[in-house]
Amino acid sequence: MSNDDEQASVTGAGGLWLVEPMGTASIFTAEQLTQEQLAFAETAGAFVDREVLPIQNDIDHKAPGLLVTLLRKAGELGLLMLDVPERFGGLGTDKTTSMLVTEHMAKQASWAVTMGAHTGIGSLPIVFFGNDEQKAKYLPKLATGELIAAYALTEAGSGSDALAARCSAVDDGDHWVLTGVKQWITNAGFADVFTVFAKVGGEKFSAFIVERSDAGVSIGPEEHKMGIRGSSTCELILDEVRIPKDRLLGRVGKGHKIAFGILNIGRLKLGVGAVGGSKYALQLAVAYARERKQFGKAIAEFGLIRQKLARIACGIYATESMGYRTTGIIDAFIAEVTDPEKKEFRTQQALEEYAIESSILKVYGTEQLAFTIDEALQIFGGYGYTEHFPIERLARDARINRIFEGTNEVNRLLVPGTLLKRALMGRLPLMDFVAVVKNELRNPDLIPVGTDGSLLGRERRSVALAKRIVTYVADIAIQKHAAELEDRQDILGALADMLIDIYLMDSVVQRTVQNIPGFGRDQTAIQRDMTQLLVADAFDRVVQGARRLAAGIASEDELSTIDANIDRFVVVRPFNTFTATERVAAAVLARGGYPSLS
Ligand SMILES: Cc1cc2nc3c(=O)[nH]c(=O)nc-3n(C[C@H](O)[C@H](O)[C@H](O)COP(=O)(O)OP(=O)(O)OC[C@H]3O[C@@H](n4cnc5c(N)ncnc54)[C@H](O)[C@@H]3O)c2cc1C
Repeated sequence: MSNDDEQASVTGAGGLWLVEPMGTASIFTAEQLTQEQLAFAETAGAFVDREVLPIQNDIDHKAPGLLVTLLRKAGELGLLMLDVPERFGGLGTDKTTSMLVTEHMAKQASWAVTMGAHTGIGSLPIVFFGNDEQKAKYLPKLATGELIAAYALTEAGSGSDALAARCSAVDDGDHWVLTGVKQWITNAGFADVFTVFAKVGGEKFSAFIVERSDAGVSIGPEEHKMGIRGSSTCELILDEVRIPKDRLLGRVGKGHKIAFGILNIGRLKLGVGAVGGSKYALQLAVAYARERKQFGKAIAEFGLIRQKLARIACGIYATESMGYRTTGIIDAFIAEVTDPEKKEFRTQQALEEYAIESSILKVYGTEQLAFTIDEALQIFGGYGYTEHFPIERLARDARINRIFEGTNEVNRLLVPGTLLKRALMGRLPLMDFVAVVKNELRNPDLIPVGTDGSLLGRERRSVALAKRIVTYVADIAIQKHAAELEDRQDILGALADMLIDIYLMDSVVQRTVQNIPGFGRDQTAIQRDMTQLLVADAFDRVVQGARRLAAGIASEDELSTIDANIDRFVVVRPFNTFTATERVAAAVLARGGYPSLS
């Protein structure tokens, strides 16, 4: 069986959270990180604090050679080899470990993007799709930082529409001849090895390994960017570059699998990186809010400032819950295969299986980071707007996250698009759940009533009801617009936002519920507050989104029935968000930042 056949036959669990009751399977949470995983996090955190933050002005001014030196230092600590298999000189750790390191590197974005491009989109095409000779040639040196990697997909005319690339690869006997210009390539200023996407015969999208020293390769000048100014972003110019035949990565015409498979992991990394960036911004905001006095008080005493701190903490809890749930399930999926030689292929499959979750992480994480940094900057007032305070750099640096690794628009579209495709292929029992929902509407006694009195009873019930609301309106959208759904971005966008909220609710409630027995009621009080606040907001958004979607696609006559049906699922009583917010804010101030459980 070929890899492609195997890929198609994989049945996993991506997207199942929509149709299964919360708690059907336990999820991985940040509280389950092992000592070994945490030791890597500590090494990464200490590296950034000691080696990167003190020289971040020099990094932003592109001091020559600085990032390469830092990469090599990180290499000496083993931080570049996590995803490289042991048999090719790496550590071959689980994905959770490499994501945790990503989280801890995120305090300094120019550095994090440089390292992420090298270890992630730069090296992983060879890790996952290279043959043994290619792996043996490049991976040991990429693992130490002796060689530095980059990923060259984008061109001037093809950004989101990556498959429209014009870069060409001509078969010339025992060589390929590559011609074209790749744009905005991270690390291009100093990278040694590039994964380049080009078309064979004008149509067969394929991937190639190009070396900086290949004749005909040149690098354009550095871009002058709004943020991540320290990172290198240049054109890669290929002028009839002749490379040996064995530099083809994967197979001719299968480059899209490499391009998109790698982007899935890039998206996860951006989501988890947002957790690290947000924790750092919160820490800075708390320190400032305690110190800055106005009207005779520390601004940390003002209700509206406390509200911001609490909301930021909630956003982090949500991203962290979805992030480590996703890395945990990917690791579990990979662990089902024990043969080390099959691990890389299994990882490719895992990344495809959890593509929906990766896109959700990318969108929610990067938008939560934007909210966090904007609110943190607001806490700094006018000082935050000046270069003298670190939040200004964070604000400029964070903006790129919503643009690269697939824009947030493209990732939003992928969430319902992939989910509905899986339902059609029979990989996700969405229609079975539609039948359950319809049956409950005919027999309202069957609608889950939940146990409002129990711990997080209202939230468990909200999750169950929100899943029904989304499934109900998604079915109406499918029935009415199946033929043109792909082009109805208004419908897909509305569904995406609701699906993101479902994954969020399901993840935070389940994480908190799982933690209660182990950590106890008192210890989990703040997690419960954050969960309640997050679910209250997300549930409201789902109800609003469903009503607006229905109003956009149904006739006036149909709408009253649809609205009445949605109402049947809106049976959750509001709770006191003011006191919960205040408790979270107090905990953030007491901790000096994000109030984690451990
Ligand atoms: C600092 C930086 C570093 C980068 N690093 C790399 C790298 O290392 N390697 C690499 O290959 N690329 C890299 N890129 C490129 C990056 O991935 C692209 O910029 C990104 O994919 C978007 O493409 P674009 O800029 O051409 O925007 P476009 O695709 O032109 O999009 C413009 C706008 O239209 C929207 N849009 C596009 N298509 C649709 C659609 N179908 N439906 C709805 N809206 C749509 C987009 O969301 C966006 O808002 C980098 C870019 C930057 C700025």
